[in-house]
Amino acid sequence: MKKRVFLDNAATTPIAPEIIELISDMMKTHFANPSSIHSYGRESKIVVENARKTIANLLNTSPGSIFFTSGGTEADNMAIKCAIHDHKIKHAITSKLSHHAVLYPLEDLASEGKIKLSYIDVDKNGVISLSHLEELLNNERTFVSIMHANNEIGTIQPLKDIGDICKQYNAIFHSDTVQTMAHYSFDMQELNVDFMAASAHKFHGPKGIGFVYISEDIQINPLLRGGGQERNMRAGTENIYGIAAMAKAMEMAYENLEEETNYIKGLKKYMINKLKSEIEDVQFYGKCTNLDESLYTVLSCNFPENKNSEMLMFNLDINGVACSGGSACSSGSSKGSHVLTAINPESSRPGVRFSFSKYNTKEDIDFAIDQLKELV
Ligand code: PLP
Repeated sequence: MKKRVFLDNAATTPIAPEIIELISDMMKTHFANPSSIHSYGRESKIVVENARKTIANLLNTSPGSIFFTSGGTEADNMAIKCAIHDHKIKHAITSKLSHHAVLYPLEDLASEGKIKLSYIDVDKNGVISLSHLEELLNNERTFVSIMHANNEIGTIQPLKDIGDICKQYNAIFHSDTVQTMAHYSFDMQELNVDFMAASAHKFHGPKGIGFVYISEDIQINPLLRGGGQERNMRAGTENIYGIAAMAKAMEMAYENLEEETNYIKGLKKYMINKLKSEIEDVQFYGKCTNLDESLYTVLSCNFPENKNSEMLMFNLDINGVACSGGSACSSGSSKGSHVLTAINPESSRPGVRFSFSKYNTKEDIDFAIDQLKELV
């Protein structure tokens, strides 16, 4: 079979074998609806509640602040739409680097005339300006949505500082932590964050399951109405296999966090050095070359203007290298990456994102570099 390597782990990660086994076992044993009151149902309910406790413990918070959703998109939409509606918010702040799961619901509310939407200034690396955030905030209750790490260029924002400023101005703070959950530690007792979004498929769990963290200091009504699941906060029969799998994947990630972080950082450093020494005129986005100040799973770079991004990606794929031109969710869009346009509107150099997981090896990177040498 032709060799292929998967360097697109920011789009999704392979499901860990242990998780596949858990899901397949549970499908046989725990098919019952957790809302049923018979013994089968009660067994399923226990699985859901144990998963909630596991996740809450890992984040040093109470189980009551974790609500299961169908993934990151629903978690972001729930936080944004419900908080803005229920708290009668008239002003929201985000950055042009936010994921579309955040930008689109906010832009919809703005175009419907329900809110004023402000975009916070970012520097050339995509880091937000804290002083501009303070300028934008005032006595009016405001909704702030700043992602923890950007999925395309790996820029990390200072979550603690942003939360502290939001608290000072009594603003509601939502952070899209889809790229960082189970990749970095979070202590919810330390962070002033009201909402956080997570998605299991970014940390070797299955697709279609995630959660929203909602601080106990804030109340909202549900986005999805129907049954009384999730303490009346999210209707719909629970994805019990997904929920159990997500908790297990998160537990596995935090058990080996340091070791796996260092391993992946090593791969990223290896690829940076190889790109610098073997490919002429490669440039890196954001703070990508700083292993401690960028998302360690993401390496985003660009090449001389001899090809467009899509052509390069297409040829890399033909040669067996799966990577991305930006966010997987925007692929196929004729507009290109909104993130790269926001930080560098002039550049027409093709941008490529390589992203790593614990299952990648240096050999994968050697192979990718060999293909790049042929194509760039
Ligand atoms: N937010 C960010 C930063 C993401 O990278 C993604 C997925 O690519 C999402 C939100 C959406 O998550 P999901 O695929 O679980 O809906």
